[in-house]
Parts: sequence; C-alpha cells; structure tokens
Amino acid sequence: MNWLTNFVRPKLRALVTRKEAPENLWLKCPKCEQMLFTRDWEVNQQVCSHCGHHMRIRPMKRLPHLFDEGKYELHPLPRVTSDPLKFRDTKRYDARLKEAQSKAEGTTDALVVASGPMGGRMAIMALLDFGFMGGSMGTAVGEGLVMAAELAVARKAPLIAFSASGGARMQEGILSLMQLTRSTIAVRLVKQAGLPYIVVLTDPTTGGVSASFAMLGDVHLAEPDAIIGFAGPRVIQDTIRQELPEGFQRSEYLLEHGMVDAVVHRHKLRETLIRLVHLLMDPVASEGRGLAVAVR
Ligand SMILES: [Zn+2]
Repeated sequence: MNWLTNFVRPKLRALVTRKEAPENLWLKCPKCEQMLFTRDWEVNQQVCSHCGHHMRIRPMKRLPHLFDEGKYELHPLPRVTSDPLKFRDTKRYDARLKEAQSKAEGTTDALVVASGPMGGRMAIMALLDFGFMGGSMGTAVGEGLVMAAELAVARKAPLIAFSASGGARMQEGILSLMQLTRSTIAVRLVKQAGLPYIVVLTDPTTGGVSASFAMLGDVHLAEPDAIIGFAGPRVIQDTIRQELPEGFQRSEYLLEHGMVDAVVHRHKLRETLIRLVHLLMDPVASEGRGLAVAVR
C-alpha cells in the first residue's frame, strides 16, 4: 500500500493536475479584464494591448522611453530631515519611509530627477513616483523640485514634470503644505529664465500637487483616462449632493473644458515633448507650424 500511496498516487496526480504558472507571468487588465503577458506589457510601457488602458508606471520604467537611446543621468535628491515631527500613526513615519525606500528605484523619496538628451537637446525631468507613499509631496519632493528647476536654469534646458500623486505628505504636517509654495517658486525660476516648463499629468494627479506645480505648466499634456483633480469625485458628490457628469475629472473631460492642452498616448509622449520643446525654444525655426499640429 505504501508504494501505491507514496509513489504512484503523487505521480498520477502530477499528471492530471494542471501546472501552476508563476504568479507574475500574466496579469489582468483592470479595464477590459483581458490577460496580458507581463513581458509584452512591459515592452508596451504598461499599456493594455487590447483596450489601450494606461496602467500606472513607475519613473524608472518610464525614463528609458523618454531620452535619446534611453540614456540619462539620475540626480539624487538633496538630504532633508527625514522625520521632522517624529510622527506616528499605526506605524512610525521613519519606518514607513524606510520601507518605501527599500522598494524604490533611483531615488530616496517620491520624486525622481533625471537629465539627458531628448531629441538632441538637454532636458531635465522630474517624475513623481506614485508607488512611493502615493507620490505624496513632503520636504524631500519640494527640495527635489527646486533642485530640478535650478538644474534646468543652469543648463538652459526645459523642465518637464510628470505628476502622479495623492497630494501632500500627511506625516509632515505644515512642512508638507509649505512645499506647495516651494514648488511654485521652483517653477517660477524656470519661467523667469525664459525656459519651457511642461507638465505631463498622469493617473492620478490630486490634492496638493494639483494645487501647485502640476497646474502651472506652459503646456499641460495628460495621459488618457487619468484622474486629475483636487478632491476626489466622491467627496465632491457628497458635498454638493449632486450627480457628477460622466467622465468627471478624467483627462478627456478636462481637455473638453480647457484645463488640459492635449491628451497624449504614452507611446507618443516622447515625440510630442520633443516637438513642443522645439516649438517653444526655437520659435524662428518652427515658424508657421501651429501648436495644435504639434501636439496632435
Ligand atoms: Zn485592457
């Protein structure tokens, strides 16, 4: 009996049971629910190949698709006091930070700053990382934005910001709110130097970020179907006690209402940014070509 139960039965069971695929080999599109092969999905910049749904993408996955030949330099964020208020909720803030840092790539907080050639011209990029504590803006992000702006001015390069954030970093209290003004001043540095500041709004851009640097661009591009707004639709609906229109706070809705200049597919972002920077920085060479043509 032992031989039958210990040897033959497992062998037979192995033959009839389906082999489990590794968990991360496939993923399901949250919009159309089709299965996607993870490797294809990554090559496709995390856009669903069936329905075109743009899933959230972290900065380090996005950067190679923006710069010439995928070559760029990362700029570490300036050091700041990591837990100025010694804040604690269910967990200590510095423990939360350390955990997020251990999973983050290319940065120590929710912002990645990179520079490199884009269309043969130097560009500075500042990308919020929603995977790092919801892309929340604390002191480190504010300092990073100032650094990116100073870099743009020093190199006479355009500044391109990618927003993806739930808003201010609650654990830093008032210091977090101060970053609204700091990031606004950072944008002003770039504008005063006569350099372009372009914002790419990605899913989701809300709270303090949408109330500061993310809405101050010379040009606002948005990825399709991204949530962009200050307060969430549920909060607004509960406050005004009215049904909200369909597609409220989505990129396409904001385009229709004049808050966004163009909704651009992720695969078209690089060429659109190159064309925009060219139009804004070489006005003579690009004379005769309208902006509407440029971003389409
Ligand atoms: Zn899909």
